[in-house]
Amino acid sequence: MAGMADERTFVIVGASLAGAKAAETLREQGFTGRVVLVGEETERPYERPPLSKGYLLGKDPRDKAFVHDGIWYAEHDIELVLGVRATELDATRHTVTLDGVEPLPYDKLLLATGSRVRQLGVPGTDLTGVRYLRTVTESDALLDHLKRARRVVVVGAGWIGLETAAAARTHGAEVTVVEVDTLPLRRVLGDEAARVFADLHRANGVDLRFEASVREFRGQGGHLTAVVLADGTEIEADVAVIGVGIRPNTELAENAGLAVDNGVLVDAALRTADPDVYACGDVANADNPLLGRRVRVEHWANALNGGKAAARSMLGEDIVYDRVPYFYTDQYDLGMEYSGYAEPGGYDRVVFRGDVPGREFVAFWTSQGRVLAGMNVNVWDVTEQIQELVRAGYTGTAVDLDRLADPGVPLGDLLS
Ligand SMILES: Cc1cc2nc3c(=O)[nH]c(=O)nc-3n(C[C@H](O)[C@H](O)[C@H](O)COP(=O)(O)OP(=O)(O)OC[C@H]3O[C@@H](n4cnc5c(N)ncnc54)[C@H](O)[C@@H]3O)c2cc1C
Repeated sequence: MAGMADERTFVIVGASLAGAKAAETLREQGFTGRVVLVGEETERPYERPPLSKGYLLGKDPRDKAFVHDGIWYAEHDIELVLGVRATELDATRHTVTLDGVEPLPYDKLLLATGSRVRQLGVPGTDLTGVRYLRTVTESDALLDHLKRARRVVVVGAGWIGLETAAAARTHGAEVTVVEVDTLPLRRVLGDEAARVFADLHRANGVDLRFEASVREFRGQGGHLTAVVLADGTEIEADVAVIGVGIRPNTELAENAGLAVDNGVLVDAALRTADPDVYACGDVANADNPLLGRRVRVEHWANALNGGKAAARSMLGEDIVYDRVPYFYTDQYDLGMEYSGYAEPGGYDRVVFRGDVPGREFVAFWTSQGRVLAGMNVNVWDVTEQIQELVRAGYTGTAVDLDRLADPGVPLGDLLS
């Protein structure tokens, strides 16, 4: 009723991009109740992409990564509780326990707990110089290492590994990338497009070792000196960065009895089976009605948009979160955006439009007359059109695949 104070408390667990965007949206949408944003890290919410790019390259200031100014939270009456872990969720009592002691009652709860790095279970990961990269503190430490590093080994040729390899080369180190698969990013891009990234790194002087894995990190006096591969090869190194994937932080949901399967299961409104508990960002495995399947997206745009969508849903709006998955990377002079969803084995062919050796092109993954995904490399302002082509495939609109490869045909003209 107009004039009555809103007595409700909305708690958001996870003070990163998704959580901060949810808090912002609650206020933007006029929610006047209590908003508590709880984060285990001691820094206020920040974005992670700069941690392996501009900031790690030493180009961008640290402050640029933060989602809001420090003062913003107080100005918007958002209780930012940092350095505190939510240890238990009691969905029946509607409480979340902070640091094992203090139960915080909620009316609605958003899990925006994201993910953490997958650990590599080999000896020597405790040596100085062996690093993971997820948090800004880890990026601070890695930047410090890279400024002095002579030989860097990157374990894992995924996005984080490759961006870190590019940063290390840019700092002037010799870089070796060790990857178990036959190409970088093969499980995301498939062989055809993965080769572009292998070529890019080779052209920039990176030594790529495929079908190789790490047996141990070896050191002297507590400092890393070499990385030993499974076949006994020893690679001299003073810094090693492990980027072998992440796992979603699902424990709170799991222990509360909520359904978890590669992330917290939520519907298209980002709701769990409990009507007062929601999840978004990296931790959510959400039903995407457009794709007709569940997806857990581990990318920036999903944290940004999912946080906003979850907030609206918590406020009772009838939302359908059906965005085309999107991500991007920057490595050396290559900038790339990818929209859609295609897995190796799930597409018929890859169609290239433009100059692949010159690394200025768009690649499309197609299947049975549909565009499943598109990746623009050093070609800009085409994301919207690519996403329209992807959407068309799911909504039954025909796409002229015969002219997909022709750069003379505007992308918009491919839709009939
Ligand atoms: C180095 C790096 C570079 C990246 N670059 C790109 C890129 O170029 N493009 C792209 O699309 N994506 C990129 N990503 C991925 C993107 O950053 C993530 O998808 C995004 O951070 C997910 O946001 P989130 O808010 O869902 O979760 P997170 O960012 O994981 O944040 C979750 C937060 O919740 C906290 N938390 C977890 N459990 C608890 C608990 N029980 N109690 C309290 N707090 C808790 C965590 O400490 C963390 O701060 C990158 C990621 C990294 C690490």
